[in-house]
Amino acid sequence: MHLYIEEAEKVLMHTYNRYQIVLGRGEGVYLYDINNKKYLDFAAGIAVFALGYGNQEFNNALKAQIDQLLHTSNLYYNVPAIEAAQKLTKASGMDRVFFTSSGTEAIEGAVKLARKYYYKKHGVADSQIISMDHSFHGRSMGALSVTGNSKYREAFGPLIGGVVFATFNNLDSVKELVNEKTSAIILEPVQGEGGLYPADPEFLQGVRKLCDEHGILLILDEIQCGMGRTGAMFASQHYNVKADILTTAKALGCGVPVGAFAATEEVATAFEPGDHGTTYGGNPFVTAAVSKVFDLFESEKLIDHVNEITPYLTRKLDELIAKYSFIKERRGMGLMQGLEFSMPVKDVIPKVMESGLILISAGANVIRFVPPLIIEKQHIDEMIQILDEVLSKI
Ligand SMILES: *Cc1c(COP(=O)(O)O)cnc(C)c1O
Repeated sequence: MHLYIEEAEKVLMHTYNRYQIVLGRGEGVYLYDINNKKYLDFAAGIAVFALGYGNQEFNNALKAQIDQLLHTSNLYYNVPAIEAAQKLTKASGMDRVFFTSSGTEAIEGAVKLARKYYYKKHGVADSQIISMDHSFHGRSMGALSVTGNSKYREAFGPLIGGVVFATFNNLDSVKELVNEKTSAIILEPVQGEGGLYPADPEFLQGVRKLCDEHGILLILDEIQCGMGRTGAMFASQHYNVKADILTTAKALGCGVPVGAFAATEEVATAFEPGDHGTTYGGNPFVTAAVSKVFDLFESEKLIDHVNEITPYLTRKLDELIAKYSFIKERRGMGLMQGLEFSMPVKDVIPKVMESGLILISAGANVIRFVPPLIIEKQHIDEMIQILDEVLSKI
């Protein structure tokens, strides 16, 4: 493994402090490194692999689509894209979809659509977007501009203009920033990278009401918290709040690089031919994956499973809080949970990895639990046992 890691550090840009393992294959909720060491995976490739590794029906659908047609262009229609868009609009309550190749591109598209909608309505392009502190929306310039972490933004200015930041879960702080130039408010119903903060119902519903009163668009970023992770297809459905523009990615393709932004009819039709485009986005390969993901969510009753298994996970995590005074609290929703420690967790993660458990952090002090949605009680027990043993030595 060390040889590969040495080679990697010569040819890959050093944008990550990677963990010292080289992964080779996956099976169910387990990953194996190239020496065949087994790891229980509670990260799922950062909330991506909802179905678990090696789902045969999923893999067969991908193989069949490779043999049939990998790519055309958005200059033509293709059947998998139509079917995937039908399934996504039905699941989200949105009317129209634009497929992208990543989450950050979904945000780019959402921001452009909000600006175009404002431009069409007001005849001027000088609009503002309100985003939240602790938010994360991606790494491309537009998505970075609305990401509420100054550490990520600092070196890359000037970013796109007209972005202001409010305090998450503080409705007054949002109200104070609203003016006639406000085109959209963007937020994650459950903040992921920022430390696993679910929106308070009064906050999210209050923001929706504020948007309605002022003709502002609500962009909900469900790239991480969507696709069943919280026990609803989209987290905003727990709140009975509907977006004007909704973004999704991560588990949408379960490992195939695809994202999307979707919008209501009124908003979506602000875009006209020529306003936005992509070469790869929505090609038959990735949309065949999306389509199969939606089918499998239904046939395997994944969302029911998330709701059945979540109380067991939260109970076990709460038992750790009771046991260790250095764990401050648990936050999250469904199979998107975080434990906040009173110290940085960066040393805990490599230690559990040595013991065969993959976990990730979310910010300096939070351990994030985002397993494949197919996990069972025995996997939770196994995870807790490894974590408990590592924590007992701290
Ligand atoms: C991961 C993530 C993104 C960015 O998605 P990429 O596919 O990494 O570009 C945007 N928003 C949220 C909430 C995310 O979790």
